[in-house]
Amino acid sequence: MHQWIPDAVREVADVLTASGYKAYLVGGCVRDLLRRTVHGELVEPKDWDIATNATPEQILALFPDSVYENQFGTVGVKVKRESESEEGKGTTEVVEVTTFRLEGKYSDKRHPDEIKFAKTIEEDLSRRDFTINALALKLEARNSKPETSDFEFRSSDFKLVDPYGGQADLQAKVIRTVGKPEERFNEDALRLLRAVRFAAELDFEIEFDTRRAMEKQAGLLEAIAAERIRDEFAKMIMTERAARGVLLLEESNLLVHVLPALREGIGVAQDKHHIYTVFEHSVRALDYAAKQNYPLEVRLAALLHDIGKPRTKMGQPPNSTFYNHEMVGARMAAEALDRLKFPKDLTVRVVHLVRQHMFYYNVGEVSPAGVRRFLVRVGPENVDDLIKVREADRIGSGVPKAVPYKLRHFLFMIEKVKHDPLSPKMLKVNGEDVMKLLDIPPGPKVGQILAILLEEVLDDPQANSKKHLASRVKALGELSPAELQKMMQKAKTRQAAAEEEIEAGIKRKFRVQ
Ligand code: ATP
Ligand code: MG
Repeated sequence: MHQWIPDAVREVADVLTASGYKAYLVGGCVRDLLRRTVHGELVEPKDWDIATNATPEQILALFPDSVYENQFGTVGVKVKRESESEEGKGTTEVVEVTTFRLEGKYSDKRHPDEIKFAKTIEEDLSRRDFTINALALKLEARNSKPETSDFEFRSSDFKLVDPYGGQADLQAKVIRTVGKPEERFNEDALRLLRAVRFAAELDFEIEFDTRRAMEKQAGLLEAIAAERIRDEFAKMIMTERAARGVLLLEESNLLVHVLPALREGIGVAQDKHHIYTVFEHSVRALDYAAKQNYPLEVRLAALLHDIGKPRTKMGQPPNSTFYNHEMVGARMAAEALDRLKFPKDLTVRVVHLVRQHMFYYNVGEVSPAGVRRFLVRVGPENVDDLIKVREADRIGSGVPKAVPYKLRHFLFMIEKVKHDPLSPKMLKVNGEDVMKLLDIPPGPKVGQILAILLEEVLDDPQANSKKHLASRVKALGELSPAELQKMMQKAKTRQAAAEEEIEAGIKRKFRVQ
């Protein structure tokens, strides 16, 4: 088991130390390197941060190719990417070099008012959030460049700067603030969320006083910019222990400030198909999605898929019903994700998955035309994600029914109809053809005719031949605008009927879901 410090990182440090500056590895990379030492875990640091007493101007002078990244004194030094990347070796493109800093005042709870540079690494570590993040490893000047390209990390080769007992906390698996928790959360309330994120990511416990301060000061999160909350929350959701993170959020009174709607499911018992409350079920669905390493949109959809249940619940368990919870839930998910300022496209995808998660399939009950309509409704590109959400839903119920045969059959049906025409683009006649055949100018009539043809072809893919469609175009062209309108309406009803077929199936099967 080896761990490496990429030579590119050491070279940056060499340039700094050769000019008489100090260079330390700090932050996440030190934590990750030392985890190997104390827990025997091999963790590849994601990014390499160097702290130095050189000012940003001095850093820029030493590395002309670098960019001044932000107003916090961080310079991104470009280093060449390693050509051969053996396993276990880091590949790096930018090494962040940051001038020692002191804690700035965050009067708007968003950005420090001013950046004050510090003289020593100890001062710099004092502004950091948690003891395990306040560790530094000194990168000394090297007498000569070793022959190996990357440097095998042995902690005994480095001077560790650890003024706050970070290594002991790493050993004990504890998240503890540097200094008084009340003060540190007051300075920057994002740290409340960061505590939960690191606890989930590392599977650590939050130390007692830190935890108590979190519970008391959770409300400070209201002052934090939604984007910062979103980024920490998303990082937490992307860890393997995302479910534990959500429970920790609730236990430390933070969930109400991050995803208040999710709390509506707390204590809400369900029906005979569920042994868990809505909240527990949602967390368990997320747990499965995280353990399967599913992407962010699937994890969020797994967590939010039943968010509409509390508001649609009728009747007493075990006979409660939750009709239309997926529609109410889709709206609630959209609101929740918008509030956190998630990117529009991600929100749209998650909302769609929540809206569609109730799809019904049973061998022999849903026709090929029904499966084609399912594909039109869901979008072929979303089928994989939707099935993952459904799987998370099933496992998260705690009483998963055996389903693989049904699911396999469904996937087989999808595979079979996937290449059938599913959109106007896939019809053998296009708008041009319609205009030519009927000798009409562009207008709504063209679109109406194509929509009607698509409906017919969804029912019967054989109908998608140029000859047949041309004759249908001629026939439809004879109809009056009112009649065409009526046909359009009928086509739309067919889609609705297909959905009803599905709803009926759900109601018959589960009655209450
Ligand atoms: P990772 O990159 O693995 O998510 P990290 O510890 O590197 O973890 P970053 O968010 O990249 O986390 O921050 C780098 C370092 O900067 C942290 O280790 C911590 O020392 C410090 N830091 C970051 N955010 C804050 C904050 N809000 N308050 C105090 N210190 C912080
Ligand atoms: Mg980092």
